[in-house]
Amino acid sequence: MACDFIALAAPGVQKLSPYQPGKPIEELERELGLSNIIKLASNENPMGCSPRVLVAVEDALSELALYPDGNGFVLKQALADFYRRPLAEVTLGNGSNDILELVARAFLKPGDEAVFSQHSFAVYSLAVQAVGATGVSVPAQRWGHDLPAMAAAITERTRVVFIANPNNPTGTWVEERELDAFLMTVPENVLVVLDEAYGEYVEKGYLPDGLDYLDRFPNVIVTRTFSKAYGLAALRVGYAFAHPDITNVLNRVRQPFNVNALALRAAVAALSDQDFVARSRQHNAAGMKQIIEGVDALGLSYIPSRGNFLCIDLRREGLPVYDALLRRGVIVRPVTNYGMPNFLRVTIGAPAENERFLAALQAVLK
Ligand SMILES: *Cc1c(COP(=O)(O)O)cnc(C)c1O
Repeated sequence: MACDFIALAAPGVQKLSPYQPGKPIEELERELGLSNIIKLASNENPMGCSPRVLVAVEDALSELALYPDGNGFVLKQALADFYRRPLAEVTLGNGSNDILELVARAFLKPGDEAVFSQHSFAVYSLAVQAVGATGVSVPAQRWGHDLPAMAAAITERTRVVFIANPNNPTGTWVEERELDAFLMTVPENVLVVLDEAYGEYVEKGYLPDGLDYLDRFPNVIVTRTFSKAYGLAALRVGYAFAHPDITNVLNRVRQPFNVNALALRAAVAALSDQDFVARSRQHNAAGMKQIIEGVDALGLSYIPSRGNFLCIDLRREGLPVYDALLRRGVIVRPVTNYGMPNFLRVTIGAPAENERFLAALQAVLK
């Protein structure tokens, strides 16, 4: 008999259940014998990405034999210039997921606690568990972060707090006033990760900008990604801005070549095309309106969202509806694992996709 290899794993790892990604379209088409499936399940950009990215990636194809720049200098410089912050504050990640894990690996050990909200992004609790630290999930208020309760959950053992703004999967957000008040109460030796994966979808001035806090609160780490509004999810590239000493620590635990050469080039090109980002934002706002009107017409309610997705309250178990939508070729995201069994999360798609989703939902609910 083979040895019990699971028992050999580090204690935090033994209890992990892996992140459940949405199924790829090809796999479902094979399984269900369908073609024409649409996927509104992973908050991907229905507009694709900037055409400038395609040119940049093609240019990089002749250099696949070479290691990427392990320091990602050109991209870091572009980010520093774009946001008018020092380059020494930038960390690059293989997706911003990577950054969340770097934070956990660098700053958490068994016995330490990390605070996050109920119904917040699943990666927080996974990253915390994987290093054997203790995740403290604070009950949400109206599906969103209850910042006063999160502040009250901070103990002497707390090292990190995760705040997603807007949050996935709920789409809820925290306002500047609340965030200011929260940050004032957090001890300076507790790191606060502001995860702004969907920040580009929010019209400027509508939500606090994490970067504005860095000078006042050196314990803040802002994470962002090229996966969502920039449309580069396949390439895996994200980044953080934080105090240079925090950045130094994160870079000690990072793999030397954690961001690949195509991703580096693509991200620089994507950042240069803010018109594309603005169009994505407008497109998303129009699609959000379209889906909300359709959901209203079906007599259903939803959680107001500032992301590129919407959680719809079916007032009954979501999984059978999810299955029935699948059989009609529409993939959405069940959020039972987020403690939201009566909801489905749908990503805002292209107008025709939104239409198809709404028609399928109407048919299924009948
Ligand atoms: C999608 C997402 C991320 C990161 O995605 P990457 O592709 O790893 O950059 C981070 N936080 C939240 C809340 C997300 O929804």
